[in-house]
Amino acid sequence: MTVEMYDVIVVGGGPGGSAAAISCACANLRVLLLEKLPFPREHPGETLHPGIEPLLKQLGVLDRVLAAGFLRHQGTWVQWEDGLQFVPFGEDESGVWQGFQAWRADFDKILLERAKAVGVEVLQPCRASRLIVREERAIGVETSRGVFHASIVMDAAGGHHWLAKQLGLQIRPYSPPLIAYYGYVRGNCPIREEAPAIIADEQGWTWTAKVSPDRYQWTRLTFNGDWVKRDWFPEEFSGLNPMGQSRVADVTWRKVDRPAGLGYFLVGDAAAAIDPASSHGVLKAVMSGIMAGHLAKLIFKDSQLEHKAIEEYCQWVRGWFHHDIEKLKQLYARWD
Ligand SMILES: Cc1cc2nc3c(=O)[nH]c(=O)nc-3n(C[C@H](O)[C@H](O)[C@H](O)COP(=O)(O)OP(=O)(O)OC[C@H]3O[C@@H](n4cnc5c(N)ncnc54)[C@H](O)[C@@H]3O)c2cc1C
Repeated sequence: MTVEMYDVIVVGGGPGGSAAAISCACANLRVLLLEKLPFPREHPGETLHPGIEPLLKQLGVLDRVLAAGFLRHQGTWVQWEDGLQFVPFGEDESGVWQGFQAWRADFDKILLERAKAVGVEVLQPCRASRLIVREERAIGVETSRGVFHASIVMDAAGGHHWLAKQLGLQIRPYSPPLIAYYGYVRGNCPIREEAPAIIADEQGWTWTAKVSPDRYQWTRLTFNGDWVKRDWFPEEFSGLNPMGQSRVADVTWRKVDRPAGLGYFLVGDAAAAIDPASSHGVLKAVMSGIMAGHLAKLIFKDSQLEHKAIEEYCQWVRGWFHHDIEKLKQLYARWD
């Protein structure tokens, strides 16, 4: 049996996977991307910091994202220890910085379409089941649609750490177990028109945001692990129509000790994840996809550089992860 051979296989078609695939394909690498779900598919993570704009431009999708009509906002309402205050993103000579409320089904589709347009072969729906390893090197993937080999496998399949578990890599927690409850409501909530809000109380915090013209998202995180009832939603959304029951996600701060190694890179949540109070998960997923793509290009130019590229990536992920958790620790200091 002949097995199809690629330069890079990317597992997962979220923002991290598409960013990695686009970066590799633009460097003339032969790329296969596997996504287990048909699109459009729903996913939390709508609020994007303005810092994502240059990255979207680099990936060649900024015009399409701007044209998609996502809501824009100039900052966030924050009520932490002090009273409620508006924290703007900032401004420069080009004007006031604005974030996006990007409906993820549409945002992720734009990125995946771009990947196809630059030559990435996309198999969807296609579930990666097993990593193939030979002589301690990742060399391919068994999937629901056959076996594929590649010089580099990138895991961008999200926070269930598909590849790390297969290789038995250490997934180190940096917080107590944290569960986020989240949901969507439909209707009209005038106080949430202008910008999202994060409001802390004695037990935790609640995030609310308008994510499309008649849809709002909420996330609730409690520090003592209290359960949130399946039909709970924030008071400010009283009178609005819940879209299904609340959902749960593991948002424990965690990082894979070695997010790159022989024949593999871990991208986005697959490498490291923190709770959504940072609201930077998508930005970090895109950044790490671009970075992994850049390093893959270097390895293909000169295979002698592989060990250096692996170390550089591991250090880079460690650097931003610890920077982010230090900021969150300061934010949460009052609960210690
Ligand atoms: C409640 C909540 C609120 C959040 N809010 C924000 C926010 O406001 N802003 C923000 O930036 N971030 C937010 N985040 C974080 C954000 O959702 C993630 O950081 C981001 O989606 C990570 O992107 P990714 O590409 O790494 O993974 P994902 O977006 O999870 O994409 C992974 C993809 O891989 C596919 N996949 C999984 N397994 C396989 C497999 N075996 N084979 C093939 N495909 C597979 C999945 O179907 C999926 O499409 C939030 C998270 C939660 C839980």
